[in-house]
Order: sequence, then C-alpha cells, then structure tokens
Amino acid sequence: MFVVGLTGGIGSGKTAVSDRFAARGIEVVDADVAARAVVEPGQPALKFIAEHFGKVILTADGQLDRAALRARVFSDPAEREWLEALLHPRISEWIAEQLAAASSAYVVLVSPLLFETNQVRFTDRVLVVDVSEELQLERTMARDKNDEAQVRSIMAAQASREERLDKADDIIVNDADLETLNAHVEELHMNYLAAARNA
Ligand code: ATP
Repeated sequence: MFVVGLTGGIGSGKTAVSDRFAARGIEVVDADVAARAVVEPGQPALKFIAEHFGKVILTADGQLDRAALRARVFSDPAEREWLEALLHPRISEWIAEQLAAASSAYVVLVSPLLFETNQVRFTDRVLVVDVSEELQLERTMARDKNDEAQVRSIMAAQASREERLDKADDIIVNDADLETLNAHVEELHMNYLAAARNA
C-alpha cells in the first residue's frame, strides 16, 4: 500500500487537506483517532494507566480523564516517558492495521507528530501543510476559542516549521482560500495516483 504521510502544525489545515483527499475516495488514517482508540474502556492500556496513576485518572463513567492525565505528566518527564512507552507501540500497531486494511488507490496517514513519533516510517511520501505563524494563530484561535498564549504553547511543543519543511517531499502552502487549497490537493492526488501505480 502506497502511504502518504500528512503533517503540519496546529491549525495549519491538515483536516482541511485530508477531507479533500477523502472526497476523492482516498482512505484517511488519523493518528489522533488512534491515540484515542488505544485508551478506550476495555483496552489494556487504560487498565495499565489506571494501575500506574490511580483511579483519579478516570472519569466517573470509567473513561480516561485526559485533562487529569495531561496535568499529571506535564511537569514530570519520567512519567511522560512511561506513558509514551506504553502508548506509542499500541498507537503504531493500530495505525499499521488500518493501513494494511485500506483498499483505496493509496492511503493518507494524517499525524500532527509524524516525525516526533517516527510514524514517518510507515510512509512512502511526506506532505507538509505550511502556513505562517500569524495565520496558524488566527485560524486556530477562531476555531477553538483558545487565547494566543495557549496556542503558542502548543506550537512551541511541536516541531518547528523549518524542521518539517526540511523533511517534506511535497508542500502545500495554505495561505489562500479553500478553493485554492482544493486545486493543490487535486494536483497532488494525480501525482500520488501515478506514484501508487508505479510503486
Ligand atoms: P489541528 O492540528 O489543530 O488538528 P489542522 O491542521 O487539522 O489543525 P484545520 O482544522 O484543517 O487544521 O484548519 C484550521 C482552521 O482553519 C479550520 O477552522 C479550517 O476550516 C480553517 N482553514 C483551513 N484552511 C483554510 C483556508 N485555506 N482558508 C480559510 N480557512 C481555512
């Protein structure tokens, strides 16, 4: 299966781009969905997390309390490492299964942390959505009603624009309207169909 890895900073337009591949019949595997799936009630990872951090990490109905967990590992690198060592292999396994089950001409793996988690190893080609920091802030704040400091702190925890662009095979500069974005996706779609045929 020919896999296109899609990444970009917060609010860069990953979902806007992946929706437009999906509209062309291309299956999209989402690393954010994987990260939620592996800690659903009944999953072994949730049991390990509850044993390790205590029941305070669960909501009343037995779901993972993400805010509580984030607060717990935020200022504790060792606990964060423990959590990542638990979750990353499970997330990778979930992604690998979804990629293997895909039946479209090629498949898009969308991940905000494609490089940071080495999910890039699943991909044949890397597509980066790039926008200026100003646009990133403006669109994310308009979407999430977050203040500037919150968005900036997330941006600071992600790979820098330069790092991402350095590793890109293809780049969409998402600084115009959605019609322009769609035209970029159409062009790349044609290239990926050809690449998948030749792979
Ligand atoms: P996150 O990392 O937070 O999941 P993302 O990279 O998936 O974000 P999107 O949600 O696709 O980003 O885009 C951020 C916001 O900007 C959304 O509200 C989206 O509709 C809007 N947006 C994206 N591209 C454009 C564009 N070219 N013109 C106008 N608005 C856009």
